[in-house]
Amino acid sequence: DANADYYPPDLERHYKITKKILGTGSFAVVKECVHRHTGQSFALKIIQKNAIAGKEYMLHSELDILKQVRHPHIVSMHALYESPTAVYIVTDLASGGELFQQLLSKGAFTEKDASHLVSQILEGIIHRDLKPENLLFQTPGEHANLMITDFGLSKILKNENDILMTSCGTPGYVAHEVLEQKGYGKPVDMWSIGVITFILLVGYTPFYGADQAELFSCIIKGEYTFDEEYWSDISDLAKNFIDGLLRYDPDKRLTAEQALKHPWIAANLPSDVPPN
Ligand code: ADP
Ligand code: MG
Repeated sequence: DANADYYPPDLERHYKITKKILGTGSFAVVKECVHRHTGQSFALKIIQKNAIAGKEYMLHSELDILKQVRHPHIVSMHALYESPTAVYIVTDLASGGELFQQLLSKGAFTEKDASHLVSQILEGIIHRDLKPENLLFQTPGEHANLMITDFGLSKILKNENDILMTSCGTPGYVAHEVLEQKGYGKPVDMWSIGVITFILLVGYTPFYGADQAELFSCIIKGEYTFDEEYWSDISDLAKNFIDGLLRYDPDKRLTAEQALKHPWIAANLPSDVPPN
């Protein structure tokens, strides 16, 4: 790539771009960079413009909105640069690794830890396009702040026909109505949070199949079980919470607001906030 090491002069003036690649997504390469003035580290998301051909205006209006967003569980955007071939977005660095990486090393989380993690996801959920690989810890170590790193830009970057393809990336989390191409919006995220909660508690997925076709039909059936062998020690409250999120009818699923008030979550929220 002839442009591999070309950066807009303005970007270079403010940030030193390191060789460290934090990750690659479907549209972006993410590198670590250092703010020259403060020495603080950030993530630099580089999106090639050919990925957004014809949709530049949408990207810009979306980014203008995202610049205003400040939320403890959503990665903030700090600066935006542009070259003839790419868009460069400087965001908070989340250096603690993926939630699911930590799950792999632990096997499963305790109910208290899982409930706390899910409450952080719920608080960040105003933002769309929830995918497990976009849930990163802010810092390494136990009990780090959990952040949603994706901006939901994928909606702009993808065309409609890609919905199925993208959901194939993490098919186990996607709601049946997405696979059937007849649903979108917040209830889809709430379903994914149901799947995530399930996985955090037992370390395996509620829907499965030997291949993708089997997995899809399993999701479309929408049937899952709390197998006694793994769930006998887990509270009815936790199961009730998951049932509320994995309701087949998207209109009957818990909303983010309702989920935050569910006793399985509310019981674990910091108690220094007086109830109202
Ligand atoms: P895409 O939208 O193209 O999938 P992502 O924003 O998901 O790109 O970034 C790709 C990968 O880069 C992520 O899965 C993650 O591993 C890493 N990454 C993204 N943002 C950050 C960040 N703020 N801090 C650390 N790593 C990040
Ligand atoms: Mg991604």
